[in-house]
Amino acid sequence: MEKIVSLCKRRGFIFQSSEIYGGINGFWDFGPLGAELRKNIRDCWWNDMVRGRDDVVGLESAIIMHPKVWEASGHVAGFNDPMVDCKVSKQRFRADQLFFASVIVDGRAAGYVSALESEKTAEDLQEKAETFKRKKALAGKLEPVQPRDFTQAKPDEIPLIPSPATGEAGSLTAPRAFNMMLQTWVGALRDESATAYLRPETAQGMFADFKAIVDTGRVKIPFGIAQIGKSFRNEITPRNFIFRSREFEQMEMEFFISDQDDWARWHRYWIDWCRAWLVSVGIPAARLSEYNHPREKLSHYSKGTTDIMFQFPFGPQELWGIAARGNYDLSQHAKFSGVAMEYFDDATRRKYVPHVVEPAVGVDRIMLAILCSAYAEDEAPDEKGKMESRVVLRFAPRIAPVKAAIFPLLKNKPELVATAKQVRDLLRPHLNVFYDEAGAIGRRYRRQDEIGTPFCVTIDFDTLGEKGGELRDTVTVRDRDTMKQERLKISKLLEFLLSKIR
Ligand code: ATP
Repeated sequence: MEKIVSLCKRRGFIFQSSEIYGGINGFWDFGPLGAELRKNIRDCWWNDMVRGRDDVVGLESAIIMHPKVWEASGHVAGFNDPMVDCKVSKQRFRADQLFFASVIVDGRAAGYVSALESEKTAEDLQEKAETFKRKKALAGKLEPVQPRDFTQAKPDEIPLIPSPATGEAGSLTAPRAFNMMLQTWVGALRDESATAYLRPETAQGMFADFKAIVDTGRVKIPFGIAQIGKSFRNEITPRNFIFRSREFEQMEMEFFISDQDDWARWHRYWIDWCRAWLVSVGIPAARLSEYNHPREKLSHYSKGTTDIMFQFPFGPQELWGIAARGNYDLSQHAKFSGVAMEYFDDATRRKYVPHVVEPAVGVDRIMLAILCSAYAEDEAPDEKGKMESRVVLRFAPRIAPVKAAIFPLLKNKPELVATAKQVRDLLRPHLNVFYDEAGAIGRRYRRQDEIGTPFCVTIDFDTLGEKGGELRDTVTVRDRDTMKQERLKISKLLEFLLSKIR
């Protein structure tokens, strides 16, 4: 993971926000290549989800909505995470990410150990239990630890559990509900009546505008409304690079179906669609899995939620959630706004409140999954044919920030430079290309490999016709992954690249 973080910084994909002031936790900036990569992720999703289908339309709703929206959606009352404070270190933890275990020696409880959630929480706790036993010089057999999260701590256990920040017991508070919505004020007054929220999800825009879209959009159930936009959550512990941040971008789609339709069939349909889409942007199917939320943990209105999990370097984690939400959201908005959220079916002359299946994903999590999938280290020959190690991002061509790099073989030969610039200008209206004349060709390849450019096009003396007419106006195209080069007519270059990038 450190290698990916450092590459992202070094090559201008991702920076800590406000770094010159020491940074601000949970916020990120996306540099030139990061901005291109994100634009490609959004464009691919929008093209496949909205433009490529007859049954999904797009929406861009405001980030700040009427505060009643968040009462209706349940976010004001229930969008809480359990939070634990360490009174000594002033650090704050999410209770469900703070684990503890009793240290049991010869069947007798001797104390507690704690650790923050990681891919090896149980091992950490076991090691800490062994250290505890050694330090206290306890004789007897240490039992394997049974990790529990802090939401399961009994009141009499809390004072005995050490803080992961200090290692000492007595400083952790009992878990308290912490609302994760970021608040602001709208208008000149700063009182309760002016309180508004930065949206914690884009979905409520689709529900609040449902009627407007049905009334104006000639949509027929089943149909979906899709949106890409920023969301904000005051996460207690933002972490794992851009995996969990406080400002992030979501791509959500609400798919409305008849109340009499088979929701499970649509739920499965969208899980499969999302999995196939992830593979199409370069995420290997083998790193994906599914997690079905157990019935007893679902909200009362939810019929089923499945997370598509990705094997991140810090363990398998939710990438994309696909939830069957019944008609809860539309019914709540009808109740709170007084506006009926019904759909009239022309064919059956029946009115009903539609049900919904929602695939919801973050651009940031997809970006991280793509970076983790693409990162590789292998060997490539230098100018003299000697093998050297290289870092390569094997982005799927459709997602790569730069599609092709254009090189004149030498920068001090005006004819080569002029032709290379012509080739760049020929491709530029269609593809994001990058012109580079600095340094040896091998070094230029390495620089492009590191940012995941799938093709490098070199203009050499053969292009100018020095070896005779046959090779005139041809260029070499080098493939990032096979490192093979082929010669192509300049007139065929655009068609060739477009066919590879689609
Ligand atoms: P988690 O359990 O990880 O907090 P969630 O189940 O609350 O996530 P949803 O409300 O279902 O997440 O949000 C839908 C999607 O939005 C998630 O699958 C994820 O891709 C993205 N997402 C949610 N919270 C964040 C965040 N803090 N930072 C980045 N992406 C996020």
